[in-house]
Amino acid sequence: MKIVAIGRNYAEHIAELKNEVPDEPVIFFKPDTAILRNNEPFYYPDYTSDVHHEVELILRISREGKNIDRKFARKYYDGIGLGIDFTARDLQAKAKAKGLPWALAKGFNGSAPVSEFLPVGQFPDLRQINFRLEVNGVAKQQGNSAMMLHPFEDIIAYVSRFITLKTGDIIFTGTPAGVGPVQIGDRLEGYVEDRKLLDFEVK
Ligand code: MG
Repeated sequence: MKIVAIGRNYAEHIAELKNEVPDEPVIFFKPDTAILRNNEPFYYPDYTSDVHHEVELILRISREGKNIDRKFARKYYDGIGLGIDFTARDLQAKAKAKGLPWALAKGFNGSAPVSEFLPVGQFPDLRQINFRLEVNGVAKQQGNSAMMLHPFEDIIAYVSRFITLKTGDIIFTGTPAGVGPVQIGDRLEGYVEDRKLLDFEVK
């Protein structure tokens, strides 16, 4: 399986990192070795000293598809969950300065904690999903799917023009404002609406 991730999908987050608003979705990948499940702890790696949390709604692809029309995109995912797109901001800044890819800054081991998935049918309105991240009990990031520049169906249509989506793939849909560093000892708790889906520690 693969993880496809969207960068710069919330205007306020683009502003906080002083990036430009892209015309088209910014796409990158994480390898399957980045995944942490079942609230396993995240072990802070030794090659970075600036790991940031980015909480994101994630989609579970349930059907193979390419060139998916946005009208039918809804048929290609069956679960919505919460993920953290851990980013080694120092490595990313170095890569960005040289115009090089973000692969290591975004794809290192453990950089993709993912929650269980809730059935899509449980959500009355996919354009109104609230989610948030608390670090040590303090709310750090709050988002709503209404704030996305490219909503779920646009992401699926766009990505599948280039890359076939397969059952079991996961899409990270971008982070709202409020990203920031994590430290060893932190406890991260993530909610979709009032359901706590993530609860793990940084070690
Ligand atoms: Mg992200």
